[in-house]
Amino acid sequence: MPIYEYKCASCGRVSGFFVQGFGDPENLCCQGCGGKDLKRIISRVNYHQSQSDRLASYDPQARKSDSFYKDTRNIGLHAEHMLQKAGVKPTEEFRSRIENLRSDPSRVIKDSDK
Ligand SMILES: [Zn+2]
Repeated sequence: MPIYEYKCASCGRVSGFFVQGFGDPENLCCQGCGGKDLKRIISRVNYHQSQSDRLASYDPQARKSDSFYKDTRNIGLHAEHMLQKAGVKPTEEFRSRIENLRSDPSRVIKDSDK
């Protein structure tokens, strides 16, 4: 289930909500001030949403194309998939390592050389 972020019109606080299906869920309410006037934010969230879609649609048996391996967003996808399958929640360290790999693979390789 994707998480969308909503910005409160009254206090500006951003709250994340699980969203089922299309459209905005009903009775959203700001986690900061309890305001009801929330607008969905697109930008940053899209990345996370597509990342969870990516994981959901990941098939370890399927043949991967070259573009799959060249896309850094697919780094760690297999590990995430295996953890999810085993019902194990990834640790913060695991998540941040993968996040680093995805955003700047060369830096992580340099770091691990030390
Ligand atoms: Zn608010």
